[in-house]
Amino acid sequence: MSTGRPEILFPLFGALSGLKGIGPKTAVTLAQIGIEAPRDVLYTLPHSVVDRRLRDTVQGAELPGILTVEVEIGQHRPARTKGGAYRVMVEDAQTAFQIVFFHARGDYVSKLLPFGARRIVSGKVEFFDGMAQMVHPDHVLLPDEAETLPEFEPVYPLTAGVTQKTMVKAATDALSRAPDLAEWADLELVKREGWPSWRAALSEAHAPQGLRALSLDSPAKRRLAYDELLAHQLTLALARAQKRAKPGIASPGNGRLRRKVLAALSYKPTQAQMRSIDEITDDMADARRMNRLLQGDVGSGKTLVAFMALLTAVEAGGQGVMMAPTEILARQHLEGLQPLAEDAGVVLELLTGRDKGSERKAKLAALARGDIQILVGTHAVFQKDVEFSDLRLAIIDEQHRFGVRQRLELGRKGLAVDVLVMTATPIPRSLALAQYGDMDVSVLDEKPPGRTPVKTALLSNENMDVVVDRLRQAVAEGRQAYWVCPLVEESEVLDLTAAEDRFKRLRAALGDDVVGLVHGQMPHAEKDAAMARFVAGKTGVLVSTTVIEVGVNVPNASIMVIERAETFGLAQLHQLRGRVGRGSAASTCLLLYQPPLNETGLKRLTTLRETEDGFRISEVDLEMRGAGDVLGTAQSGLPRFRIADLERQASLMAIAQDDARKLLQDDPTLKSDRGQAARVLLYLMKQDQAIQLISVG
Ligand code: ADP
Ligand code: MG
Repeated sequence: MSTGRPEILFPLFGALSGLKGIGPKTAVTLAQIGIEAPRDVLYTLPHSVVDRRLRDTVQGAELPGILTVEVEIGQHRPARTKGGAYRVMVEDAQTAFQIVFFHARGDYVSKLLPFGARRIVSGKVEFFDGMAQMVHPDHVLLPDEAETLPEFEPVYPLTAGVTQKTMVKAATDALSRAPDLAEWADLELVKREGWPSWRAALSEAHAPQGLRALSLDSPAKRRLAYDELLAHQLTLALARAQKRAKPGIASPGNGRLRRKVLAALSYKPTQAQMRSIDEITDDMADARRMNRLLQGDVGSGKTLVAFMALLTAVEAGGQGVMMAPTEILARQHLEGLQPLAEDAGVVLELLTGRDKGSERKAKLAALARGDIQILVGTHAVFQKDVEFSDLRLAIIDEQHRFGVRQRLELGRKGLAVDVLVMTATPIPRSLALAQYGDMDVSVLDEKPPGRTPVKTALLSNENMDVVVDRLRQAVAEGRQAYWVCPLVEESEVLDLTAAEDRFKRLRAALGDDVVGLVHGQMPHAEKDAAMARFVAGKTGVLVSTTVIEVGVNVPNASIMVIERAETFGLAQLHQLRGRVGRGSAASTCLLLYQPPLNETGLKRLTTLRETEDGFRISEVDLEMRGAGDVLGTAQSGLPRFRIADLERQASLMAIAQDDARKLLQDDPTLKSDRGQAARVLLYLMKQDQAIQLISVG
């Protein structure tokens, strides 16, 4: 139950069974598909129309088709057998045809279609036995009733047990209850787009005048989609404003440490890295709390950006922490960053679940004293007893493994720190806006120079022997390869069997010393040892489950073999492939599939072969799977939009975000006329929880 719903919306949130045409039984049926109040009926739009426009004749029309004509009624030919066809000869302006009934009572038909009279009939006309016939007309009207038949009849998405007529009646009644609401959209925008008012848009959307009115681009539909997106973006903008309003700490760096590191680097940061570093350090210098997302494809160099942010925290006299999703990644960060930390003269330490006993105690003490300035680790860094002396910045690497829930938890810990979330999974802009609209976003849209593209090939697993032969050759030349084993029915145990099995076979084929194995269930020490041997080049081939998916960096590895590639998602394949092509050598990615490939499998694999652009890949992914799936519906927190289409209305989402942020900037408490209207919109869109985020005063 929500409190505070504006009275003007009451008629739309009453019982569904109060609507014309909807009895208690239908109400239950509709509730099962999420239609619980008149408001939901309003937001269940027809997805198609039937053209009922009156024409002169059925002659020349494309058959079968639904036609509406005025006819003169001729002879009746009652059925000769029980259940046979009862035929009525009729004539329109140009031709004769038949109207046919089955199981009809004669007196019913003669009353409906009296001999010699004129009627308007509408229904599906088809050819049968060389003659046009209309079986069981949908409508029969007197000629002077023609007006009562809408030219286009809406067709609603239905659930079993609910008829079109019921939906039309209910929608008509719900529309009659819809109040005139004050405009919440920016008036300039409404004018520029030629949008009808909310109420008029709904009326139009429920009475589409032809197929074009069904299009997402029709002004009415666009307006309604915008409303949904605006409500969503307002919620996010309110969440953002609330977070930013919380007191934070200004951490202005002086550049001292950063300059040292940049001077010692063997490369120059890309433009995109510089831009992102500036955006982040500007946020950190501000007393408001930073809540920023750093989005960058695999290999775009997020680590350096993160480290510069951590150094800024240290320059400002505080500490920084970076949390990675896995032990392997945390260790890798340590190894990659330790030399840079030394350049800067900063103390960097690792803390993971494996730290135990006195060693852990010592680390915690050093941290609490401020002797450790930068902490890298797994979830362990946020355990209860971990205390910092002066924490300024928390970085969460590889956000996708954490999910939105953990992100919120971090906030709930009440840390007054700046937060930077990093994700290596490029997502289309519309989705980024939908999911991270409460954050500010920096994008690394440029890759460091000097990379050779990865050559990607598709190969049937019938060619396994050839692959193994080539691998032997490559290893002999000093190259290294990953071999990723298939996902078997979402089960780690089965994954494991597949990986172990492949491990044995490859050992037999290539030699025991050449092949290593890592998987998620291995004891830590063994996993580290296997990784270390691979990093050191001692093993040539590393067989694994998808544990290597995220972030692992072994520049000398230049071959990626993915077995049963068709069972992986596009984003995952892209991540996996991102493990190679990190050095100067030309790299190869072999996608092994089990024939026959189905259509979506083929599309995924060929997309991957054709491009390495993570954003492009994410767009195809979105096209193929839909928004909820791309983000992982369960944890995405993404609302299910009824009208807006994230795949096709990305620009509208961007407009909605700008508008929402601007509206809140001008009117943080939503008190102005437009602000009040926006509150009504939030209730209308069932975003009641957002209202609580509106700051008081
Ligand atoms: P990701 O964004 O996937 O986390 P990393 O930060 O791991 O990428 O960077 C990938 C590799 O690119 C690392 O070896 C890193 O040292 C290197 N690198 C980062 N920035 C640059 C740059 N501007 N020029 C050249 N190499 C870079
Ligand atoms: Mg990384």
